[in-house]
Amino acid sequence: MAVRRIVDIVESFQKKPWKLRKPQVVQFPVNDICDAKCQMCNIWQQHFDTQVNLAEVEKIFSNPLFSEVRGIGLNGGEPTLRPDLPDIADILYQKLPKLRHISLITNGTKADRVAERIDHLAAVVKKHAGYLDVMVSLDGVGEVHDRVRGRPGNFSNAIKVLEHVCQHEGVDSTRIGCTVIRENVYGIHDLYDFARERDIYIKYRLGVPHQRLYTAPAESRQIGKRTWIFTRPYDLDFKARVHFSEFLWGLIKHYEPSWQQRYFYQSLIGQLIENAPRTAGCDWQHRGVTVSARGELLYCAVQSPVLGDARVEDAEKLYFENKPKLEEIIKNNCAQCAHDYVGLPAGNVLLRETFNEVLGKFGLEAADIKRLPGLKTWLKRRARQRFLKREKSVLSNVVYRSESSSKNTLTILVCGWYGTETLGDKAILGGVMASIRSVFPDSKLLLASLNSYISRSTCEQMPELAPVEIVDVQQAAKRMGEVALLVFGGGPLMAIDEMADMDALFSIAKGLGVPSVIAGCGVGPLGDAYKNAAIKHLLQSASYRIYRDDSSSKAAQALGVISSGRDFVAEDPAFEWVKINADKCHVTRTNRPTLLLGLRDWPYREYAAHLSQPEALDIKHRFEAAVISALELVVEREPSLVILPLPMCTNHFGDDDRFFYRKLLTSTPIKKALDRRFLAEELAPIKYLEAFLEAHVALTMRFHASVFSIACGLPTVALDYTLGQGKVASVAQRFNVPCLDLRDVDANRLADLLHRQMSQSVVDRPALEFSSVFSAILAKEFGRQAVSS
Ligand code: SF4
Repeated sequence: MAVRRIVDIVESFQKKPWKLRKPQVVQFPVNDICDAKCQMCNIWQQHFDTQVNLAEVEKIFSNPLFSEVRGIGLNGGEPTLRPDLPDIADILYQKLPKLRHISLITNGTKADRVAERIDHLAAVVKKHAGYLDVMVSLDGVGEVHDRVRGRPGNFSNAIKVLEHVCQHEGVDSTRIGCTVIRENVYGIHDLYDFARERDIYIKYRLGVPHQRLYTAPAESRQIGKRTWIFTRPYDLDFKARVHFSEFLWGLIKHYEPSWQQRYFYQSLIGQLIENAPRTAGCDWQHRGVTVSARGELLYCAVQSPVLGDARVEDAEKLYFENKPKLEEIIKNNCAQCAHDYVGLPAGNVLLRETFNEVLGKFGLEAADIKRLPGLKTWLKRRARQRFLKREKSVLSNVVYRSESSSKNTLTILVCGWYGTETLGDKAILGGVMASIRSVFPDSKLLLASLNSYISRSTCEQMPELAPVEIVDVQQAAKRMGEVALLVFGGGPLMAIDEMADMDALFSIAKGLGVPSVIAGCGVGPLGDAYKNAAIKHLLQSASYRIYRDDSSSKAAQALGVISSGRDFVAEDPAFEWVKINADKCHVTRTNRPTLLLGLRDWPYREYAAHLSQPEALDIKHRFEAAVISALELVVEREPSLVILPLPMCTNHFGDDDRFFYRKLLTSTPIKKALDRRFLAEELAPIKYLEAFLEAHVALTMRFHASVFSIACGLPTVALDYTLGQGKVASVAQRFNVPCLDLRDVDANRLADLLHRQMSQSVVDRPALEFSSVFSAILAKEFGRQAVSS
């Protein structure tokens, strides 16, 4: 094993194409017919023709080409349609000296037949001391699956097969395989819950054009005199690609145990979001082969031409003498291929993961090594150098100012943590934009984004942001010359790497004489001295500073920022957006009492950096258990209560709350009270606002969940997860909201507070003044008054 890994590491550092070796893995679709009618596959349209018989299977796999094979995937079509499937496995074990692992993929459409076939197959595999893995295709829960698979009742049959396989002694592992296409992309979260609740591993793959499934290359067909272009089921639009990618990030962080699969998911995300080349490996590039149901030999099933008929030709010769065809595939197709085969990753990745595996054998993690005294100091120094380099790289973009902004159509650049935005950040942006447009209705807006696909989603969800031009930080720096005003659009000024970008933008603006505003920011959490210095420098570079509360103003002064007549305190700009839009919503509170949750996975590394990991985890576990118990108590007292978990963050940059809620709530006694409507597809901010307006009480932890709740006049209990560092407790105190420190959450007390708040009537929405402060600054700077909206 160790020797093989060393060989793999050496290989993975070589330039591709790698040396072609005898195959270690074989893909063997044993038939080309199917009893399902899947949207992403056309095999069901095939009529039975040639199919290798047992004698031919024996002949093909007697060839020395297969002497190194360790694993075979049996699929189809639907492999269990072949009554002789167990006999095929028997022959494979007899002929392949190193074969151990057989992996069967079934659609489970006819449960009784599939179960019977698996029973016989398992007996054969055990006879040869092999390993049997069964993957049942499941593409959604209930009707979603049936629609994808094109047969009503398919889901219930697939479940029967899963139940059969899970308790089968002869089956070593059971998996669910979900193919993601347009039809089921918004059902993948529900399927994830389904799998987790049954403790069955689930793997997701993107439906792709595939020549074995007769879905490539053309999708236009001649019917009568007309050519019809068929929309391809796997063509996900931008929104669906973002949705799927963020889901995959969630799997990487919270679920997927195998680093190879995590690496594959990361590669797929790059392909989905940036159209980036595939980085995942593929054994079929150098040590895998496909034998078709007709006995043909191919490299991979996705792109390879047929190399020859392995029933009558020498498979070894076909495999090695056609190497230029494989090289063509690697050169022309692999970079765009999203198929879910895995293989050797890039050398540095394999080396890193091997190192992690070795550490794991000694009960250690990479983080433990990083804490070693000398290494810790070196890593800190390196992080500082990287931070300064990053700042320098943005600063190097200065272009001397060109006066392109006219007095009427000012170009305004908004920066901040956009590209990682939560619902709160979206509302801040909406509030800032509304305030700008109240003074300059025709202003042109540039949004500097750290990850443009997230900001593009935001702009598509919020019509009020149009037309906003999204630029990256480097472009923003280059275009500072045409900017009339730079705005830091809310959120906390905190000690993170991206602060280097923001400080550089403010430095450039100052150097070019562009006025700048900190628009409704908090200060902290702070961190390393060089990052705190960047925060201080940014604050000092700004022409005007509007803090979102007094404690932020004080925190800035503690950093050494000297206050002047250009410092203000106003409520968070998100209040402004909620106020404007709540008036437009026209929703009424629901009849059933609804408790809205605005919780998050506690980022203890940021907010409890002074505690050891066990201490911080102890607080986290106690608080989560107390919240669950409190919710149980509230449901006991109010059995008709609906609990509505609302994700304030739906991207992985800020920790996707949907995964946290699913982990925290879905296997607890309160799951019957859960309304899961916000735990799948990300919706436009206005939809979440409507939920705040319809609810009766809220339990909030995320700062902007409290802001939304207060701005909607909703009776609220807040949880301060900052351990007294300010923002949550501060907003709660200003609006008389009961607030519990995370360290002191007690189930009974929390339940009492929620119950008491629930009996309160909705209060008037508070009057808030961010817009007036901001408009006054704009009027002063540019000599204009706000226009009525
Ligand atoms: S085209 Fe895809 S499946 Fe075929 S060898 Fe390349 S990466 Fe593998």
